[in-house]
Amino acid sequence: MKTWSLENFQNPASEIEFFPAKVARSGQSPAGSAKWIESLPVAAALFRVAKDCVTKLNSNSRFGELAIGNTRASGLDLGHVATRLLAMHREGQDGHFEFLKSSDLVERRDIELSIARFGHAADEYLVSAVDRTEEYKSRENLRREMLCDSLTGFFNRVGFQEEIEDCLNTQIKGDVFSEYAILLFDLARFSRVNESMGAMSGDELIITVAKRLRTRTRSDEILCRLGGNEFALFVPLKAREHLDSIAERLIDAFADPCRLSGFDIQVECAVSAAIGEVANDDPMDVLRLAQIAMKRAKKSAKFELYVPGSVETEQRRFSLETDLRKALENEQLQLHFQPLIDLSTGMLSGFEALARWQHEEKGFISPVDFIPVAEESGLIVPLGRWALEETARTIAKWDKRAGRQLPTKISVNLSAVQLVRDDVVQTVERAISQSGISGNRLTLELTESAFINDPDAAKNILHALKELDTHLAMDDFGTGYSNLAYLQQLPIDVLKIDRSFVTDIMQSNDKRAIVRTVLSLAEALGMQTTAEGIETLEVSAVLKELGCSFGQGYYYARPLTPEDAFQFAVKSSPLTIN
Ligand code: C2E
Ligand code: CA
Ligand code: CA
Repeated sequence: MKTWSLENFQNPASEIEFFPAKVARSGQSPAGSAKWIESLPVAAALFRVAKDCVTKLNSNSRFGELAIGNTRASGLDLGHVATRLLAMHREGQDGHFEFLKSSDLVERRDIELSIARFGHAADEYLVSAVDRTEEYKSRENLRREMLCDSLTGFFNRVGFQEEIEDCLNTQIKGDVFSEYAILLFDLARFSRVNESMGAMSGDELIITVAKRLRTRTRSDEILCRLGGNEFALFVPLKAREHLDSIAERLIDAFADPCRLSGFDIQVECAVSAAIGEVANDDPMDVLRLAQIAMKRAKKSAKFELYVPGSVETEQRRFSLETDLRKALENEQLQLHFQPLIDLSTGMLSGFEALARWQHEEKGFISPVDFIPVAEESGLIVPLGRWALEETARTIAKWDKRAGRQLPTKISVNLSAVQLVRDDVVQTVERAISQSGISGNRLTLELTESAFINDPDAAKNILHALKELDTHLAMDDFGTGYSNLAYLQQLPIDVLKIDRSFVTDIMQSNDKRAIVRTVLSLAEALGMQTTAEGIETLEVSAVLKELGCSFGQGYYYARPLTPEDAFQFAVKSSPLTIN
């Protein structure tokens, strides 16, 4: 029998050497013959523990093998076992369970260790150990597959989140850095490569970019491919001043063109970032803030850091988001319908569906406030789906109630964010087929911002929407970056002249000139026009005079409840017209 005192455990290697030999020769156990322990299906050993010394009474050969290790991995750390036994004994504990990661030789070992008071003796303990290395390895591999992007090997969104949390948890204790940044990279016009050169080249481009990013990141930084052409990087920040140079180091990765199937492709990328505090911020919130800054980066073509509003504004924004999520789940949003008037006949031509939110406590909240929150939080996807489905359902319901097909179309607003985040074509198709209406009863209103990020992708979506027989309108026309060369390639039916030009048309010659230009542009392109925000008879007369096709505004009607809008529609289209 070998007796260990604590000092003997200072050098685990020496125990590995002699321990198995001693196991084989260990004499009679007070707990009976060696047979029972040998028959156990796991590595096990029986110990007796005194105040400061541990004695092995008996053990099986499995325990011996595990303790000695092998050429690739070290054995069970017996020093650790003895320390545990002494502590347990001192504290009068009955049992102990833990995972041990053995110190490295070549491979790490994962050992499940359990120690329990044995039999009636107060000082005898049975130690059992199960080598879980293989099990853990395959579990780890599976986990890696689930947490990584297969093309680049970078973390995916879920893996990114977990890895950051792991890193931050140790930092909170370690206090090595108190702030971090999340940077985002968005490859512009990636879908153009995909389309013109094929998906294989698109993949090749992503791999090339990923390799370049990898060589420019440090070991304490975490890389992620968030999706298609979007990458993220988590960086511990020693000082905020470092952020610009970190961004530059990465932007530099895109300076040289990428060689793809014999072509040199200059990759343009938009870069943004947001800063989080280790102690206070949820990294996924910080990621979202970086996404907000990304919107600006795409417009400015510069590195953009998220600049926080006041704490109060941020809190209000987050609470609005929470409330909006609930409102959507509980179907507390409504659609109101504002009439669109044919200026040449004065008759109703259709409606625009506008979302309305009557908050239980806060009262009416304007879409001007909640649509941006929905866009930033991704809630625009369910909101947009709901608006489309509800509109299609309303058209079907009105037809049924009127006993005929009303000659009205309804316009639905589509956000640029929806175009990127949702499969809009499928959503529209579903709304049409579920309600049984035909596509030409719907007009979809998009703004110019839908085309900034990826014009080619947006163009394809528009063509697919036309295939569904829907009408398309360009909303708020004149306020965005009007790429006229591009506009003529798009299958747009109607230009909606922004309210800001219409309201002042009587006072401002400039505004009137702009409206004239838009009207002649639309005519040249074979598009119709709608003037928004007509509030007076005079303005409506001027617009009619100038040849604008449709008008919308408080002069004709405010947005109406579904019931009022239905009555309006029925009255405006007497049976004889149909
Ligand atoms: P928009 O698409 O430009 O909608 C027209 C806005 O002008 C509506 O504001 C409407 O009430 C208002 N308006 C109409 N006539 C007049 C007028 O004569 N004078 C003035 N001063 N205003 C007039 P609303 O309903 O507050 O909607 C604001 C914006 O919110 C909309 O602007 C649209 O961009 C967005 N929005 C509303 N509903 C939805 C929706 O379901 N989905 C999406 N993506 N956006 C929506
Ligand atoms: Ca609109
Ligand atoms: Ca508008």
